Amino acid sequence: MSLDVLMSGAAQLGIPLSSAQASQLFRLLDELDDWNQRMNLTAIRERGQQITKHLLDSLAVHSYLHGARVADIGTGAGFPGLPLAVALPQHHFTLLDSTAKKLKFVDHATQALGLHNVQTVHTRAEDYLPKERFDCVVSRAVGPIETFVKWSGHLCVGGGRLLAMKGRYPTEELEHIPNGWKLATVHQLNVPALDEQRHLVELCRSHDRA
Ligand code: SAM
Repeated sequence: MSLDVLMSGAAQLGIPLSSAQASQLFRLLDELDDWNQRMNLTAIRERGQQITKHLLDSLAVHSYLHGARVADIGTGAGFPGLPLAVALPQHHFTLLDSTAKKLKFVDHATQALGLHNVQTVHTRAEDYLPKERFDCVVSRAVGPIETFVKWSGHLCVGGGRLLAMKGRYPTEELEHIPNGWKLATVHQLNVPALDEQRHLVELCRSHDRA
C-alpha cells in the first residue's frame, strides 16, 4: 500500500522510480524513524504522512530545478535534498544546515542509501563561501523569502535560480524581495495524495531574463 502511494505519486510527478530507488526512499524513512527515537528530527512520524509530506513533497520540485549543481539550505533531516538526490542521480546536491546533529543524520542516511551525489556542509548559509557556486538553491521551511534571499543569494551563479518551497501563495512575502532579485514565477504544485496547497517561488537576479 505505502509502496503504491509512493510509486504512483512519483509517476504523477513525472518521475519513473525504479524499485531500487523506491527501496532507497523507504530506507530513508526507516533510518529517520530509528534516529527519531533518540533525537527530535521530525514531528511527522506516521508512515503515510512521511510519504506525502517528506518524500512526495520533496520530489514535487524536481522538474523546476535549474542546472545540475543544487544546494538545499536548512536541509534539516535532508528535505527536500535527500529524496531529490535519490531521484536525480546525475545532479549533485550540497545539503547545508547550521545544526550539526541534523547533518550527522544526513551523513548517515547518505551512506546507508549508498548515495554518491550528496555532500553536507555545516555552517550558516549566510557565512558560506563555496569554492564553486550553485546553479540553483532550494529551501523548505527556513523562514520568509526575504531572509532566504539575504542568506542564499550569494550562493547562486549568474543566471542561477533561488527556489523557495511554500504552502499557501505567499502574497505578503513577495512584497519584500530584497534588491537585486525579482520574482521569475510562482509554480503551483500538486503533491499527490496531499490535500494541501503548495507553491514554489522561483526568483532570479533583477538583470536576468525571468
Ligand atoms: N528543510 C527541512 C524540512 O523542510 O524538513 C528542515 C526545516 S527546519 C524547520 C529549518 C532548518 O533550518 C533547521 O534544521 C535549522 O537548523 C536550519 N537553519 C536555520 N537557520 C539557518 C541558517 N542561517 N543557515 C543554515 N541553516 C539554518
